Amino acid sequence: MSKKVMILPGDGIGPEIVEQACRVLESVNTKFNLGLEFVEELIGGASIDAHGEPLTDAAVERARGCDAILLGAVGGPKWDTIDRAIRPERGLLKIRSQLGLYANLRPALLYPQLVEASSLKPEVVSGLDILIVRELTGGIYFGEPRGIRTLENGEREGFNTYKYSESEIERIGRTAFEMARKRDKKVCSVDKANVLEATILWREVMDRLAPEYPDVELSHMYVDNAAMQLVRAPKQFDVLVTGNMFGDILSDAAAMLTGSIGMLPSASLNEQGQGMYEPCHGSAPDIAGQGIANPLATILSASMMLRYSLAETEAADAIDAAVGKVLDQGLRTADIVTDGTEKVGTQAMGDAVLKALP
Ligand code: NAD
Repeated sequence: MSKKVMILPGDGIGPEIVEQACRVLESVNTKFNLGLEFVEELIGGASIDAHGEPLTDAAVERARGCDAILLGAVGGPKWDTIDRAIRPERGLLKIRSQLGLYANLRPALLYPQLVEASSLKPEVVSGLDILIVRELTGGIYFGEPRGIRTLENGEREGFNTYKYSESEIERIGRTAFEMARKRDKKVCSVDKANVLEATILWREVMDRLAPEYPDVELSHMYVDNAAMQLVRAPKQFDVLVTGNMFGDILSDAAAMLTGSIGMLPSASLNEQGQGMYEPCHGSAPDIAGQGIANPLATILSASMMLRYSLAETEAADAIDAAVGKVLDQGLRTADIVTDGTEKVGTQAMGDAVLKALP
């Protein structure tokens, strides 16, 4: 049976890097006889220019009918001043909420060949392999009531609501335990249970789930300590699970441990295992159109898609191995180039990955 993949190139460097990921996907599609079919839609500024909105309802409906989605990035200065309600990033929020993509998986994996690109000492980061599991559709970013109100004394006050229901916590908790089972079998749940009631409940629910996963070791850490430990001794972590806001911040910090944001893929999954896959970086308008963007985060996002939504582990392993080989050959885009390596552009990097596939 064929499986449908939606391609959303987006804006800026999006189309350039997605093009390389599609070449790689098409190659493994043939080599491993995957039966993938591709459909393409507009998102972000590209969709605003064509349809007056960052993602059409028709595109969402088409996405619903697909097994997985590969996204480049959205946004750019051209759309920075338009009405907030139709800005490019609204397209992202729309697809996340419409498809119920509640689990954001962000691996922070340091390739041994890139250890010099990290700002931390090699002995602190070499061998780093963390997976951050961030709750994506709840918590303080969505909690009501929210707003800015004027108090009786005339002063204005901003307010948001931090809340998580037991079922929301349980759902993301299970995702973290399941992911840990496929890795080093350790989950560290990050909260602020010494101050926030919502995270006292978070901790309780995680403890309640733990006996169902006796092969996985559960620990808890306050978010301030987790931030410190991520830069002090990041290799102590396997899977980190946390709420929307803490995850937003910690996953960016973890990303930088690896040296280049151009290397980092991500996945956002719903309860049916359908997922959207995208690089962690944005549309990089400063380098768009120059043919120098690093396509590897998007190529690795395609590999995550094969692994997590399409159950094509062999093809995913082949892509990961090909990326490793290309780095071994000393090929680097401008963002990760160091002394003694060879600088290549977006297309040449894509060519090299294709050539390195089995
Ligand atoms: P950015 O990630 O686009 O760029 C930050 C820096 O990293 C830039 O110097 C850029 O050149 C570099 N960079 C990023 N990806 C790279 C790659 N693949 N290869 C080489 N260098 C790379 O973040 P920003 O500059 O804060 O945002 C630019 C635009 O992207 C904004 O409009 C923002 O709203 C949007 N954005 C989109 C997403 C998304 O689509 N998921 C995420 C973040 C930012």
